[in-house]
Order: sequence, then structure tokens, then C-alpha cells
Amino acid sequence: MNATLAPATMTAADRCDRCGARAYVRVLLPGGGELLFCAHHGRAHQDALRAKAAEIQDESHTLTESTPASAPDDER
Ligand SMILES: [Zn+2]
Repeated sequence: MNATLAPATMTAADRCDRCGARAYVRVLLPGGGELLFCAHHGRAHQDALRAKAAEIQDESHTLTESTPASAPDDER
């Protein structure tokens, strides 16, 4: 058995530092700090974050699991 540390799952209490939406991306900084971003801002700052983050935990893929695959859009 491996004693690997499972990263803490983000919850609804975790909020984007930029807009206050639910966070899906957690960025761990080398200095020990932590930044939280929603899927939108996580993507928007992706390149800059990759450059300086110690680790990036991206759970934005869980977004698609809870949203309907297709919204009805045939307007009448
Ligand atoms: Zn945001």
C-alpha cells in the first residue's frame, strides 16, 4: 500500500480569488501560499500560473459531469 497524500478535494466553500465563483483550480505556490480560481480564471491565468506554481490542482473537469450535456435550444 502506498501512503500517498491525496490532495484535498475542493468544496463549494472554496472561492475564486478574482470573482468569488466556486473554485475549481488550486495553485500551490513554492513559498507555501495558495491561490484559488474558478475554471474561467484558472484558464485565463494558466500560462502565468504554470510558470510560478509549485503545483496546480485542476478540478475543472468535474464541471462537465454535473452540467447537462446539451441545453435545449430550439426556440419557438
Ligand atoms: Zn473567477
